[in-house]
Amino acid sequence: MLRRVHLAPVAPEAYQDTAPTEQIEECLSRARNLRGIRIAHINATPYGGGVSELLRSAVALERGLGLAVDWFVIAGNNRFFEVTKSLHNGLQGAPFLPSAEFEEIYELNSRANAATLPREYDVIVVHDPQPAALRQLASHVEARWIWRCHIDTSQPDPAAEAFLLRWLDGYDAYVFTMPEFVLPALQARKVVTFPPGIDPLSPKNLPLAAMLCRRIVTWHGVEAGRPLLVQVSRYDPWKDPFGVIRVFRRARERVPGLQLALIGSMALDDPEGWRLYEQVRAEAEQDPDILVGTNITGISFVEVNAFQHCAWVVIQKSIREGFGLVVSEALWKETPVVAGRSGGITLQMEDGIGGFLVPPEDDDAFVERVVQLLTDRELARALGQRGRQRVRERFLITRYVRDELRLMTEVLHGSAGTEE
Ligand code: UDP
Repeated sequence: MLRRVHLAPVAPEAYQDTAPTEQIEECLSRARNLRGIRIAHINATPYGGGVSELLRSAVALERGLGLAVDWFVIAGNNRFFEVTKSLHNGLQGAPFLPSAEFEEIYELNSRANAATLPREYDVIVVHDPQPAALRQLASHVEARWIWRCHIDTSQPDPAAEAFLLRWLDGYDAYVFTMPEFVLPALQARKVVTFPPGIDPLSPKNLPLAAMLCRRIVTWHGVEAGRPLLVQVSRYDPWKDPFGVIRVFRRARERVPGLQLALIGSMALDDPEGWRLYEQVRAEAEQDPDILVGTNITGISFVEVNAFQHCAWVVIQKSIREGFGLVVSEALWKETPVVAGRSGGITLQMEDGIGGFLVPPEDDDAFVERVVQLLTDRELARALGQRGRQRVRERFLITRYVRDELRLMTEVLHGSAGTEE
């Protein structure tokens, strides 16, 4: 059964001191033209991971723009989310072994969710593969349907791709973060590309006093005066947490006193996260310079903010990455990033803007760049500042909502037209 997530609206004016004016104005005029329509967003989890983060902010702003917007989360048991996580991994390139049992679990769960979708919507945006089957199974709903893919589908396992494609028929439009991710079978259909964005008004991104940030990280066991390397990510093999520990240990040999904080939330739809978290914790247990934190050890949004603020360098060692909101979040605080050159991260940074990109599996390159930024603090500061500027122009939630409203106009009226 679908569950509704309730959110308070956020007025667009609240963004006027942080976001580009033209983005806010276009949001306002597009929303005026869309007034009266009913929109539903559907995804798999209300917390943990980038999609829930994005929806929390986008839905609140769309409601603040005067639109009637609801957010639903699909229900599923552990077996269903094991299936969808392996589908997710398969779509990012891991081997995927389909079976009749997988098909049955996916379809039965989707059918139960689809039956509870209210019929009154004009536009429905389905996020990611977990709820993708709702389009075909909720035949009582006469809406325009958009499928929004947030993951890196540039090199999918063919069986995973085939599994998903069967359920993607019938959507009116498909959205990917970047052209490299577009599944070839969809190319003849209506496909658009635009990336997500971060919310400068979220407790995770609001400016915090430096003293508060220091107190928070100290509270969690990090010494505020010593250099700090941070990765904020779900415990997911694609984020390579063991690679981060390897790079940290080698960098510590050259920067004595270096500490590492691995901060990772648990998501409702990610049973794999618990297993990996335990393994990472075991690996770090004997090392007092490594903090392994999660939302269950008391890391909330404000804590993430403080760690991103206090980090001397943020590392993002993703092997595949749909977008990586955490990169923009760090840059928004002018913290430089050393990241794997993978997926959506390449939109956010380039060498000289925000930090350094290196081959995702090249530990040597990570160590070199991390040490460089830990020791050349002037360079680190300059790169971080340029990164923030790029985020302001391209990766705030106002730009994301603007792009989404353009697309909704298009699927409802046949063309995006001009804003007025
Ligand atoms: N996050 C969090 N607490 C944590 C770890 C992550 O709130 O302990 C947030 C993080 O700040 C970001 C999101 O979860 O907003 C992760 O999004 P991203 O796009 O980086 O990766 P995804 O999880 O979607 O693969």
